[in-house]
Amino acid sequence: GCILAIETSCDETSVAIVRNGTEVLANVVSSQIETHQKFGGVVPEVASRKHVETITRIIEQAVDKSGVKLGDLSAIAVTQGPGLIGALLVGVVAAKSLAYSLQLPLIGVHHIAGHIYANQLVHKLEYPLITLVVSGGHTELVHSEAPGKFRIIGQTRDDAAGEAYDKVARALHLPYPGGPHIDRLAHEADAAITMPRAWLEPDSYDFSFSGLKSAVLSALNQANMKGIKLEPSHVARGFQESVIEVLVEKAIRAVKEFGAKQLLLAGGVAANRGLRTMLAERCEKAGIPLLAPPLSLCTDNAAMIAAAAFLKWEQGKFSSLDLKAESSLSLEGWSL
Ligand code: ATP
Ligand code: MG
Ligand code: FE
Repeated sequence: GCILAIETSCDETSVAIVRNGTEVLANVVSSQIETHQKFGGVVPEVASRKHVETITRIIEQAVDKSGVKLGDLSAIAVTQGPGLIGALLVGVVAAKSLAYSLQLPLIGVHHIAGHIYANQLVHKLEYPLITLVVSGGHTELVHSEAPGKFRIIGQTRDDAAGEAYDKVARALHLPYPGGPHIDRLAHEADAAITMPRAWLEPDSYDFSFSGLKSAVLSALNQANMKGIKLEPSHVARGFQESVIEVLVEKAIRAVKEFGAKQLLLAGGVAANRGLRTMLAERCEKAGIPLLAPPLSLCTDNAAMIAAAAFLKWEQGKFSSLDLKAESSLSLEGWSL
């Protein structure tokens, strides 16, 4: 099974060719970050237009790089959702055209299933497992009792972790996307300004980050009014410690309660050094095997979409050519 996958859900145009859900033959990622940086965030219409401009070239590059002939492909996969509707549409139309003209099956993929299965490109998965999904738009604890099965046991009630990182970074006048900058500052800091933790109800696996974000903004404002300048690295460290402590605590509790054999980390914020370090320490102590993708596979890419598509390909579960992009596609609904 050799799958060509397309990902255009946000601000990365990516095309990958992956054999048997694990062997990456090509994974070309073209980021629009520079385009959106001057606006301080992703502008949906601009993202959509950029995808249109680049998609054909990226498909050609991926095919060339892989050394695979179009005739050797077994299926075309594409991110169906969730994401920016105009951005998703570009990928879906490109994938349908390829599937139709090459007479190959089409497979619509859930973007977060892709983030989770990025782990399969580098690790052997054992079920049941728990995934901590931390990305720009999602923060979820997902229970998988078998391959391709997803049950959300907890999720954010307001901001996603990555969204909170980006908003706090903006308040500190750091460039978009702010996550990596906060991570670096937190790492360099020699002290931290203590911030609140949102634990919610004692048995809840849900998260909340908007209160923390407000606490950071109000600390900055109050200091500003008093004519004091808070050390940005101290703010970054305090914010990061609060985010990480809650994520790690709840993830470990979920692994224990569900008797999971592995804990997976997934999504753009999985690139966070502080999070990876603390999770590794806590998992080591608790004897929990922790898996995380390499940094390049944490943020949006099409190889992870091909990896997730392979689950459906194996079972012959294909999409029809009237597949629709869905900006808020459900993960549980996409389950096998
Ligand atoms: P979703 O996957 O939920 O649709 P998305 O695709 O926009 O959202 P990703 O590409 O998975 O999100 O991740 C991007 C997010 O990851 C951004 O919010 C970015 O700031 C954050 N991020 C990237 N690297 C780091 C890091 N080292 N520390 C913290 N956050 C990071
Ligand atoms: Mg992105
Ligand atoms: Fe993503």
